[in-house]
Amino acid sequence: MGRMTRLVDSFGREITYLRVSVTDKCNLRCIYCMPEEGVKLKSHSDILRIEELARIIDIASRLGITHVRLTGGEPLVRQGIVTLVCVLSEIPGISDISMTTNGLLLPGLARPLREAGLDRVNVSLDTLRPERFRKVTRHGDLKSVLAGLKAVEDVGLSPVKINTVVLKGINHDEIADIATLTKERPWTVRFIEFMPFWNNGWKFNSRYVTPISEIRDEIMAEGAWPVESGAGQDEPTDRAGRGPANYVKLPGAKGSIGFISLKDHICSSCNRIRLTADGRLLPCLLSDISVDLRTPLREGAKDGVIAGLICKAVSLKPENGRVAEAMAACPGENPSLSKIGG
Ligand code: SAM
Ligand code: SF4
Repeated sequence: MGRMTRLVDSFGREITYLRVSVTDKCNLRCIYCMPEEGVKLKSHSDILRIEELARIIDIASRLGITHVRLTGGEPLVRQGIVTLVCVLSEIPGISDISMTTNGLLLPGLARPLREAGLDRVNVSLDTLRPERFRKVTRHGDLKSVLAGLKAVEDVGLSPVKINTVVLKGINHDEIADIATLTKERPWTVRFIEFMPFWNNGWKFNSRYVTPISEIRDEIMAEGAWPVESGAGQDEPTDRAGRGPANYVKLPGAKGSIGFISLKDHICSSCNRIRLTADGRLLPCLLSDISVDLRTPLREGAKDGVIAGLICKAVSLKPENGRVAEAMAACPGENPSLSKIGG
């Protein structure tokens, strides 16, 4: 190893993007993601240590991974997260390090993360109303997230993306207000269709789904027009000329608005794999195939062996994720996004 290579799966897709769940813990309990009591956590010893995460990512980078997104659970509650970013930023093959966070701890961490080498963040924000925010997150303080957004702008972590999960009857009346943020700020607000994963503890949940087409129609009615992208390199799909635009802009806006639905996911251009906090590599979000890297790592496997396992996971990537089946009521089978690293 040592030579830069390309990681290509059995269907000719080049895999360049690794989403890494650095913890299964979270300091919020968003109603659409976790049950109130939280999810059953892995024991501390099952979770990859910072140096183990760094080693896997280093090996993956030598195989062709160029972009790493740190997620969770909540990545900012992970001890050593700044050190991890710092170590990753030293890996020559990694050209982009991003993070998806609920933003609560950004006021204190935005600067150290920026200095450590983080390139950009996606911040989850489902409502602009403090009381509603407390309800949706089951105790979060909106002020901290807004202060976190200011902190990331102050330190130049850009472009900022906002992830908004739209829930019918809960926050769908705020679509226009949240979209309006893009008028003043150069942010990309991405509306996400709620995915009724079965075991997030919200079992009667499909009635909260607001179809992405409905969200898009509401924004288009505000006079928005399609733009080429806004997606960034983490988006595998570019639908330009192939159906409704995924990104649009409001008149006079500095930022753009995106629409994300797992159901629209185009498997043929998927470029990603996922690493869970306990060291399993998942070739596809919507399949139960996984390759254990932790056991061999702890048994002293050489880099070449770990590289072989990463290639094996990539070779097992299915041609198509079974979106419909995964979302169907299939108790116990579907993990929530917080467990697999949303
Ligand atoms: N804690 C971090 C956060 O909230 O940004 C990172 C992990 S979270 C699982 C990643 C993203 O998944 C968030 O933007 C969250 O809103 C989204 N998410 C979680 N559960 C979801 C669901 N059932 N449907 C759609 N999006 C979901
Ligand atoms: Fe935590 Fe993120 Fe899930 Fe909310 S969406 S409970 S912040 S992991």
